Amino acid sequence: MSPSKVRVRFAPSPTGMLHVGNARSALFNYLFARKYKGKFILRIEDTDIERSEVLYIDEIYHDLKWLGLDWDEGPDIGGENGPYRQSERRDIYKTYLKKLQTNDLAYTCYCSAEELEIRRKDAIQNGQAPRYDNRCRHLTDEQIKKFEQEGRKPVIRFKMPEENIVVKDLIRGDVEFDHQLIGDFVIFKSDGGPSFHFAVVVDDIEMKISHVIRGEDHLPNTPRHIALFHAFGCELPLFAHMSMTMGPDGTRLSKRHGATSVNQYRELGYLPDAFSNFLALLGWSPGDDREILTRDELIDLFSIEGMTKSSAIFGIDKLNWMNGMYIRQAPIDKLTRLAIPYLQKGGYYPNGVNESEFVWISKVVDAVRGYLNCLSEIPQHAALFMNEEVEIEEASVEFIRSDEGQKVLQLFQSKIESMDTVDIDAFKSVLKDIQGELDVKGKQLYMPLRIALTGKKEGLELHVAVALLEKKKILQRIQTAQARPLI
Ligand code: GLU
Repeated sequence: MSPSKVRVRFAPSPTGMLHVGNARSALFNYLFARKYKGKFILRIEDTDIERSEVLYIDEIYHDLKWLGLDWDEGPDIGGENGPYRQSERRDIYKTYLKKLQTNDLAYTCYCSAEELEIRRKDAIQNGQAPRYDNRCRHLTDEQIKKFEQEGRKPVIRFKMPEENIVVKDLIRGDVEFDHQLIGDFVIFKSDGGPSFHFAVVVDDIEMKISHVIRGEDHLPNTPRHIALFHAFGCELPLFAHMSMTMGPDGTRLSKRHGATSVNQYRELGYLPDAFSNFLALLGWSPGDDREILTRDELIDLFSIEGMTKSSAIFGIDKLNWMNGMYIRQAPIDKLTRLAIPYLQKGGYYPNGVNESEFVWISKVVDAVRGYLNCLSEIPQHAALFMNEEVEIEEASVEFIRSDEGQKVLQLFQSKIESMDTVDIDAFKSVLKDIQGELDVKGKQLYMPLRIALTGKKEGLELHVAVALLEKKKILQRIQTAQARPLI
């Protein structure tokens, strides 16, 4: 493969939020382009005027940028082969339609949607393929006149060749399609716009696309596309149909499985590098068992040969594990900046964070990051430090209500009161003193303090927690615990 020849595209339809399966297509195309020092093109397929919305185009830009995928040509930055929104390419499609009409490869069809639906059902009932029966291929002038007078809105169809078509797929090998199952298909709709099939092929020709890397759901469309390429006398791109993204139950990933769009994962606080690392491993493998891979490593290792035929399972446990790894490795300042909006959503720091607060928050983030799957979980972990009081779980009250527990709390309180600040060393030496003075150790010493200060029997190491708490809060919690009655 001559590197400069690689030209691939991501061609989303802006009819909804960017689905994680589509984001994976974008990522694979991007990795392929970068690996071969080719071009990655963004094309917006908005031929479905009713369902396409500008809002979703902006969302696509936002999500791709968040994932760190930059494109070389696209609607927002232009390029030699633009425009890159199909709605702005109508004249180009008309020119291509003329070529087909000149060669008698297209015709006008007057069948109504209702008629087509009835015939489709009949065909299924009779055990036949529900394809268009090509009946308008040979209309007489009189029939056409009659249909026109009836006010029917025609479409334009392409004459499919009557021979089987083999898709040479780089992932799936040769896949042969029986021409008898594929009828003449619509290339221009009754609203005067091009159909999806037509626009895709014209654009792939015009944009000199070398490889079409897209979801397996498009494989049945490919014989139609190949027939169009041939009709235009153009060389075929290479095709690679990726396996689909499935939920853990093996069905297509959908809302039933939870979050399905990139923006939802962004909002939940998955880190973009972790998320794209996770996506890269859906249906592709570097050939060994490495899982945490930097962007440069992904580019270096990526290959179409490494892509699997079997479907890829989107497993949230794996994503959580991977995100946790990235959270633990992230530079703490960066992580703190990312965490603050989540703390604010949780009700903390509504007016922003000053410098000294930032320093303290970063210590809290560092202390709890090992427990996080994603950043939206941070308020529940940070509450221990940020709330005035902690909620003491009922099952633990006995530790602070026992005589020994009360003695520990009292002595601890008096020792802390006389200190200026409570750091880890000071805390440890206070514990040692109490141990000596009251002759208690282990759980008897530790648990009353842990329960009073954190509310729970398990969790962060106590000295780490205490070092992050202000003296005032420590004393307050000890007092509250002393006053806590047993139910
Ligand atoms: N617009 C199509 C889609 O969103 C992609 C077409 C293609 O990649 O050829 O599914």
